[in-house]
Amino acid sequence: MPKYTLPDLAYDYAALEPHVSGKIMQLHHDKHHLAYVNGANTATEQLAEAREKNDFAKIAALEKALAFHTSGHVLHSLFWQNLAPKAGGEPTGALAEQIKQDLGGFNAFKSQLTHAAMTIMGSGWAALAWEPVAQRLVTTQIYDHQSNITQGGIPILVLDAWEHAFYLQYGPDKKSFFEAVWNVWNWLDVGQRFEKVRTLDLSLRGATDRG
Ligand code: MN
Repeated sequence: MPKYTLPDLAYDYAALEPHVSGKIMQLHHDKHHLAYVNGANTATEQLAEAREKNDFAKIAALEKALAFHTSGHVLHSLFWQNLAPKAGGEPTGALAEQIKQDLGGFNAFKSQLTHAAMTIMGSGWAALAWEPVAQRLVTTQIYDHQSNITQGGIPILVLDAWEHAFYLQYGPDKKSFFEAVWNVWNWLDVGQRFEKVRTLDLSLRGATDRG
């Protein structure tokens, strides 16, 4: 049975300083992300046991746990790759063009994503996602790791807005964290993801009129 595993970071814990402290990166990756990896594997195993015993009394709880932990694993794996030392700036090429077309340009997109992160009720994420039905980029709030999601959408950039992502360094001043992170976005990574997802075809005939 395939198992979820904790991916190594492609850079040192302290490589994103001063924007994200090394201590936060270490705890966030080694403790928080690992807990989601373990949780996803445990829920998968418990579902297999339930199938073997034909005992599905806890299936709703198990599938909720599976969605929560697996989504936490996916989002954190994506977040680490979305970040890089000595990065930031603005995207270029096809991604920049699509942001201009769908979100009114980089500054408007930056403001929209930052506000999405700032206004999440409880724990969650802000994301830039590809919506393959209308074939456009959208920003979205993700509650916890898996709720408030538009089906079919693929996140290509995610911003962790859980308190564990910033509190040790920024305290209650989450706005400063959501501004600092723009110095370490890895636009090369996000642009490559965009190139992959933009050809996704959900084969939903008649579901959109692109004019
Ligand atoms: Mn997190």
